[in-house]
Amino acid sequence: MLRIDIISVLPKLIKSPFNASIIKRAIEKKIVEIHFHDLKDYASNKRKQVDDYQFGGGSGMVLMIEPIKNCIDLLKKDRVYKEIIYMTPDAKILNQKIANKLSIGGNLIILCGHYKGVDQRVRDKIITMEISIGDYVLSGGELPAAVLCDSIIRLIPGVLGDETSALSDSFQDGMIAPPVYTRPENFDNMSVPKILMSGNKGKIENWREEKAIERTKKIRPNFFD
Ligand code: SAH
Repeated sequence: MLRIDIISVLPKLIKSPFNASIIKRAIEKKIVEIHFHDLKDYASNKRKQVDDYQFGGGSGMVLMIEPIKNCIDLLKKDRVYKEIIYMTPDAKILNQKIANKLSIGGNLIILCGHYKGVDQRVRDKIITMEISIGDYVLSGGELPAAVLCDSIIRLIPGVLGDETSALSDSFQDGMIAPPVYTRPENFDNMSVPKILMSGNKGKIENWREEKAIERTKKIRPNFFD
């Protein structure tokens, strides 16, 4: 079973995505185990302090190294982790290839930053991998961590009902997925492409492939480089 430990100053911000739909089912099926850790519980001083002003001056608090190290050391004492990931905008951007790799790699620790981020020494000495979810800045690493977990968990065999479903999603085969339709067949003068109603599996497959190529050329031409 894959175990993911998420460390955050605001664990309540991250819990709800794990309480619904596909991810919830994966947890219930014991395919994945998620543990949330409140950084305050690992603070060294009596005031439960986890952040402080930055040296050199400037606005924004910085998460301190001590509570982070305390938490990660405790986790590492009990099991082996494949990666200790820090969610941060100034890192390589998450893609399907990274999600695939992490879905088969082993246990993960995910550290969520907040405010100005974490003390650089955490990144230099403790973190083994850094991931961004895009070139924009959010208030905390909680939503990015949820995005990362979702992208990983849905790829684990047994999580999606139809095993081939993840394989036919966009990016999985270096292509954007073809369009999909469902009932009603006609709506407001818009009808479903006839071929999908033909029952001819071979022709439908060919049509889907053509559409995938067409859409990829248009939306992500770089995939053909
Ligand atoms: N001062 C930092 C930004 C801090 S944002 C900088 O200029 O780079 C606060 C926290 O939100 C970060 O520590 C990180 O954990 C998270 N975060 C914000 N945007 C993110 C993104 N695009 N991807 C991943 N994590 C992000």
